[in-house]
Amino acid sequence: MPYEYDEQNIFAKILRREIPNDTVMETDFTLAFRDIAPQAPEHILVIPKGFYMNYDHFAAEATDPEILDFTRVIGAITHAIGVTPGNGGKGYRLIANAGHDGVQDVPHLHMHILAGRRLGRMIQPI
Ligand code: AMP
Repeated sequence: MPYEYDEQNIFAKILRREIPNDTVMETDFTLAFRDIAPQAPEHILVIPKGFYMNYDHFAAEATDPEILDFTRVIGAITHAIGVTPGNGGKGYRLIANAGHDGVQDVPHLHMHILAGRRLGRMIQPI
């Protein structure tokens, strides 16, 4: 089933500048801003400007320049906030929730960058 993008989702409104955001980095294809309810000292969301609902939608339909830029922006941010292990940083976590089981709340692809404290195990044991 093809994806049906909801243009009223909150990140679409951020991209249209209908609601404010705390921008960290912006390029032609990508916007990164601080999460409104941070779960770590550093909690940044990176979104493509194109209307992709989740990662598999993006991987299937985004252009190569969009995918390259999204990836590079994530790398640039982890470098800029000083968390890259290769440069002596303490590390970080990337999360892209998708769909029901992924517990995705906002149906526009977003990569969470979480850092600034020890983050615990990857998922809660059940
Ligand atoms: P997810 O559950 O993966 O869809 O994550 C959605 C994230 O968007 C949550 O961490 C929210 O705190 C965050 N969020 C929701 N509205 C806003 C907003 N207006 N500005 C920044 N972050 C937001």
